[in-house]
Amino acid sequence: RNRAALGTPIVPNVKWEDVGGLEEVKKVILDTIQLPLMYKHLFSSKLRKRSGVLLYGPPGTGKTLLAKAVATECSLNFLSVKGPELINMYVGESEKNVRDIFEKARCARPCVIFFDELDSLAPARGSSADSGGVMDRVVSQDLFIIGATNRPDLLDSALLRPGRFDKLLYVGVNTDASYRERILKAQTRKYKLHNNVSLLSVAQHCPPNFTGADIYALCADAWFHAAKRSVKTFEIDPSRNNDASAEEVIVEIDDFMT
Ligand code: ATP
Repeated sequence: RNRAALGTPIVPNVKWEDVGGLEEVKKVILDTIQLPLMYKHLFSSKLRKRSGVLLYGPPGTGKTLLAKAVATECSLNFLSVKGPELINMYVGESEKNVRDIFEKARCARPCVIFFDELDSLAPARGSSADSGGVMDRVVSQDLFIIGATNRPDLLDSALLRPGRFDKLLYVGVNTDASYRERILKAQTRKYKLHNNVSLLSVAQHCPPNFTGADIYALCADAWFHAAKRSVKTFEIDPSRNNDASAEEVIVEIDDFMT
């Protein structure tokens, strides 16, 4: 019944270079997933108990982006499911949802299952349910679990038992301008930037608590205004009206830093 609602594996299209400013976390997550894939004999089932990577940190810092990027980088399918989607008030249904997800992922191996909003799986107070049971199904080396939460304090401790989420990675906001500059670089890598644009200077003018998602909004705005400007130019020369191409849009992000 819930099959359609509970996600379909996709081939993600987020590139490694699309993730900015998280170099350390990127390195660790890539090792965790890529090494066992590349060197199966070294990470045999004896050594590599099932284990997942848990990304935690404030909203909009790139957890989802990172999970997709690592899947792309390692040529894995990507199946995303939000914690609340798994929960069903009827006894046995939540369990069935989890089974369905793993079944779908198994059919799409090699595959990452991305559990977002994992904190919502915490059992009700006083209940003895073990939300970590979600994790106990990984039986092969080509299924990978990445979890994400903004609220690690709400996670059921059962999820953090050995063999479940073995790797906890903090994905946070760094207040250095260079962090924002690296995110700006990642996000504008396909833009044709105006010669006057200094991404460092843009970064220095952003509030220090700006997240990747805030920077995305800024860049999207800049792009929109630049595209609008181009459309105006094309309108002046009607012969070109229909070939307004993205390559000709010159983005001036500085305009928006007031
Ligand atoms: P939430 O906890 O709200 O789900 P999240 O940490 O998963 O947040 P994402 O969904 O990955 O955040 O980020 C939202 C958008 O912000 C991304 O699609 C991307 O455009 C941009 N973004 C966030 N972090 C980064 C980053 N480090 N580098 C480049 N872009 C980023």
